[in-house]
Amino acid sequence: MRVLIAEDDVTSRSILQAVMGKWGYDVVTASDGETALKLLQQPDAPKMALLDWMMPAMDGIELCRRVRAVETADPPYLILLTARGEKADIVAGLGAGADDYIAKPYNNAELQARLGVGQRVLALQERLRRALADAEQLALTDALTGIPNRRAIMARLQSEMARGGREKAALWVSILDLDHFKIVNDTFGHSAGDMVLCECAQRIAGVIRPYDAVGRFGGEEFLLVLSTPGTALFKDAFERVRGVVAARPFLAGQTEVTVTVSQGVAQWNGAETAAELIRRADEALYRAKENGRNRIEYTPQAPGE
Ligand SMILES: [Mg+2]
Repeated sequence: MRVLIAEDDVTSRSILQAVMGKWGYDVVTASDGETALKLLQQPDAPKMALLDWMMPAMDGIELCRRVRAVETADPPYLILLTARGEKADIVAGLGAGADDYIAKPYNNAELQARLGVGQRVLALQERLRRALADAEQLALTDALTGIPNRRAIMARLQSEMARGGREKAALWVSILDLDHFKIVNDTFGHSAGDMVLCECAQRIAGVIRPYDAVGRFGGEEFLLVLSTPGTALFKDAFERVRGVVAARPFLAGQTEVTVTVSQGVAQWNGAETAAELIRRADEALYRAKENGRNRIEYTPQAPGE
């Protein structure tokens, strides 16, 4: 584990460096507070630091404050090393953001033990950080199909709206519904239906462009979000999605079954809410179902129709 030692006294620094090297730490040193701060702000900065209180350029207290002012998911563990052992000093040091302090002259066994505490805290912090990242990922993923869930795709739509408002890009959504999906479930069972939903999600995700998005909106409904600078490309994109589903049969349990999708597409008018936009797409979807399924209906009508 890499540890930073910030200490202006050459002798103290050398002794610390030697003893900590012997304990297996990978030691980085600084002889003033400003250099220490730079080292702690590097991308691959040491996760633990032993900071002298009295240093030129910036003292250990200010250094703690500056490090803590930066919000990060994995803050370093800071130990103040100080000859100032008054209670008020200790309170000031911890208040400035130090995790621990060691009074000079220090005892080697105690120093080693406190570094061990720091490692335990850092290990916990890392586990927590990973668990939160996993939980966040799970909260945005549809458990069955592995694509973004309703919350995630709606968040994507909202951010595209915020961006589109500035960049004047054309924004399109499609509500996509599997045709006669109830028959698949009723005939082949729900696990076969789940297989169809999964493959459908994979096929759609496979044909959209990297900057487009698809999410499971609910049941057998998906929401496509397309952001296109012109109007020329969007029809091809929706048609590709329709085509890739209808192109070949799906495996439903032991049987192959033909599945098609209907889509209702709406272009954002630049003023309406996400809910209003989706309501218009839903109306177009209703028309697609009425007009024979396995088709795309636009609202308003697509240019050239
Ligand atoms: Mg000093």
